[in-house]
Amino acid sequence: MDTVDIVVVGAGLAGLSAARTLRNAGRSVVVLEARNRVAGRTFGGFLRNGVPVELGGQWVGPTQDAVLALVDELGLETFRTHDEGDGLTAYDGTVTRYADETFGLPEASAAEVGKLLAEIEELASTVDTHAPWETDGAEDLDRQTLDQWLTARTDDTLALGFLRLLVPALFSAESPELSLLHFLFYAKSGNGLDTLVATTGGAQESRVVGGTHRISERMAEELGDAVRLGAVVHTIVQDGDGVVVRYENAAGGGGGAVAARHVVVAIPPMLAGRIRYSPPLPALRDALTQQIPAGSVIKFQVGYPTAFWRDTGLSGFVLSLDGEVGVVLDNSPEDGSCGVLVAFVEGAHARRAAELGPDGRRKLVVDRLVAYFGPAAADPFDLVEQDWTAEEFTRGCYGGRLGAGVWTQFGRALAAPVGRIHWAGAETAETWNGYMDGAVRSGYRAAAEILEILAAEQG
Ligand SMILES: Cc1cc2nc3c(=O)[nH]c(=O)nc-3n(C[C@H](O)[C@H](O)[C@H](O)COP(=O)(O)OP(=O)(O)OC[C@H]3O[C@@H](n4cnc5c(N)ncnc54)[C@H](O)[C@@H]3O)c2cc1C
Repeated sequence: MDTVDIVVVGAGLAGLSAARTLRNAGRSVVVLEARNRVAGRTFGGFLRNGVPVELGGQWVGPTQDAVLALVDELGLETFRTHDEGDGLTAYDGTVTRYADETFGLPEASAAEVGKLLAEIEELASTVDTHAPWETDGAEDLDRQTLDQWLTARTDDTLALGFLRLLVPALFSAESPELSLLHFLFYAKSGNGLDTLVATTGGAQESRVVGGTHRISERMAEELGDAVRLGAVVHTIVQDGDGVVVRYENAAGGGGGAVAARHVVVAIPPMLAGRIRYSPPLPALRDALTQQIPAGSVIKFQVGYPTAFWRDTGLSGFVLSLDGEVGVVLDNSPEDGSCGVLVAFVEGAHARRAAELGPDGRRKLVVDRLVAYFGPAAADPFDLVEQDWTAEEFTRGCYGGRLGAGVWTQFGRALAAPVGRIHWAGAETAETWNGYMDGAVRSGYRAAAEILEILAAEQG
């Protein structure tokens, strides 16, 4: 059995950031990754013409300082998301074009949305992102679902529909599936709802040249043979002296074990709950892992010979209350060699679309793009899809969410180490929770926890 200072479970952004930090601090590490690739939820793909497209996490933006600094350190570059031109909003069977802040909603509904968003921002500003359960009035905020709060606030059905649409766009889950406290926490952790939904000046501002998977690939290159692919961790045993992390080979044919002083588990909490621990995890931690399900999303990258929508002054941005494709953005390459629309089928729509089969989904997506952009959208040269709920080692996206009562009853177990086991992953971040930036920060936090303990042990 190999022996190192720290074993890291999961070679996504969180695990690799932790491993790299620990290695740079002079500690020996092994990273065990179940898939035969690194990058987890930032998987990259290609269109038929060779243009790289992001099948998972893709945008970075201002205040995401950890991931932006990492991109820079690793010698990668970013470029701006195309955001010029008018947006489209689809509702009540029509597609409305707009160039202002109204999202194409009628004046009264736009004002109602504005009023509710301001109320959300104000409430969110009161949340303690370090310990959400200690927020003033936490019990009350956590007792209700976001949907209960919204429906009690407005009887403008269009405004309500619009705000409900933002929820799958951010969580790939529906508004009854998360608590008001979780929504407020998430908004504050990402610098406010305005930042979360904005392209320029917000979370969708930029992309990484070549794709975000390159961040993980570069870190894995630095770590060399410390990263073991195809190693599915199934058991973690700890005692006073250290941990033993056991894995099976994904390809079959046995497995192995690595002994270490500490382990960082950098996988989504729900998957962390499927590992066997000896001694068993405290009941609070185990119960928590049963209550952070991820949402459902199928992401489509649709390639056209040109970004034809730009010719008529459209930005490519669509929000739709009608049909399955709720959000669309221009995802064309920086060099303009072709046009790409990225389309998201989220939440309840994704669960239904998963049953259609690839041809049915292709038709569903292309038909909606035609409804938004006209007949020129009918004939893409390629369409690449990624269903994240079908992925054994992710099981849903964008990340785990907390339903009513979960933060206040179980939240304190989310990032608190259990003996020699330290938790990382985007879900454990207090800043940019659920985002690539949060994943990187969580890796740094877990590494810092361990380095502090090891330094203290050395006297
Ligand atoms: C469609 C989509 C769009 C998104 N858009 C954005 C965006 O635009 N901007 C943004 O910032 N974020 C976005 N995100 C979220 C972002 O991608 C994630 O928050 C981030 O990548 C999570 O990183 P992580 O390291 O915490 O987890 P993961 O990337 O999930 O890494 C966990 C790793 O652990 C491995 N693993 C799981 N179980 C085991 C096991 N038993 N043994 C060994 N290994 C195991 C997995 O294979 C995986 O590689 C998006 C996500 C998706 C899916």
